[in-house]
Amino acid sequence: MSELHKFLFDGLPVRGALVRLDDAWTDILARRQANDATGAWPPPVAELLGEMAAAGVLMQSNIKFNGALVLQIFGDGPVKVAVVEVQHDLSLRATAKVVGDVAIDDRLPDLVNVHNRGRCAITLDPRDKFPGQQPYQGVVPRHGDHREKLGKLSDVLQHYMLQSEQLDTTLVLAADDKVAAGLLIQRLPMEGEGNLAGSLVSKANEDEIGLNEHYNRIAILAASLKREELLELDADTILRRLFWEEKVLRFPAQQPRFACTCSRDRVANMIRGLGQPEADSIVAEQGQIEVGCDFCGQQYRFDAVDAAQLFTSPGDQPPVTSAVQ
Ligand SMILES: [Zn+2]
Repeated sequence: MSELHKFLFDGLPVRGALVRLDDAWTDILARRQANDATGAWPPPVAELLGEMAAAGVLMQSNIKFNGALVLQIFGDGPVKVAVVEVQHDLSLRATAKVVGDVAIDDRLPDLVNVHNRGRCAITLDPRDKFPGQQPYQGVVPRHGDHREKLGKLSDVLQHYMLQSEQLDTTLVLAADDKVAAGLLIQRLPMEGEGNLAGSLVSKANEDEIGLNEHYNRIAILAASLKREELLELDADTILRRLFWEEKVLRFPAQQPRFACTCSRDRVANMIRGLGQPEADSIVAEQGQIEVGCDFCGQQYRFDAVDAAQLFTSPGDQPPVTSAVQ
């Protein structure tokens, strides 16, 4: 069963979280594999997406925010887009669009940053938006402060969190075809809980960056965690091995799981958004309108009668949205 463990270091300004996705992750992989149109993702793409899924759960669990956290990479290599969406209750979904060949040893820059135009974005989409409210989006820089290329997803996200929250963060991520896992260690801000929106940025806090000896010691221990250990060991063993000299306060484990938020209603709204002439022309050409969900593989079919009904009673229609799923 997939698990998220949050913990604090007693008396120190340091907190952590450890996630291990097994069923939630294999569910996502199995749905993709079952899709006849695409087949399974190449292993390097699955690995990237698994690391994103683990990071997405860690980041969602780390903020006080009721809504969806969306982690996206727009690539200029074979991975055109990779997206992970984690809800407040830690239900998650993920997908990636791949065009062209992926070599078995391709790394992050080969997949998404071939021409140095790849970018990464983190969006916080509130659950109950007030009218006109836009989701908060942070664009994650591709380079470190000294223009050094960031070769790993964990480096990219660590750098983002340092820039946006002024919080030292250490991330260790790993994924294979069975498990997606991650460890996050973060220095607590001077006041209250950290927040991705950066509202806790303060001079006093900024001055502490890189200087807190407790955080630095614990971060070094965390960074020593090896990929195989993260993938193969249970949470108790990992935390004991890494932090046996520290006083770790654990919180009750939470259970991330796969869930898709697509629905026939949402697809119907999307078709209404196309307009009747466009919908009619698809029906005329293909006999029906068929829309597949990229996240869960669900196929939604609207035959000629269904499609016509979408446009018959304008007074009853919910507002049109541009979102597909
Ligand atoms: Zn779906």
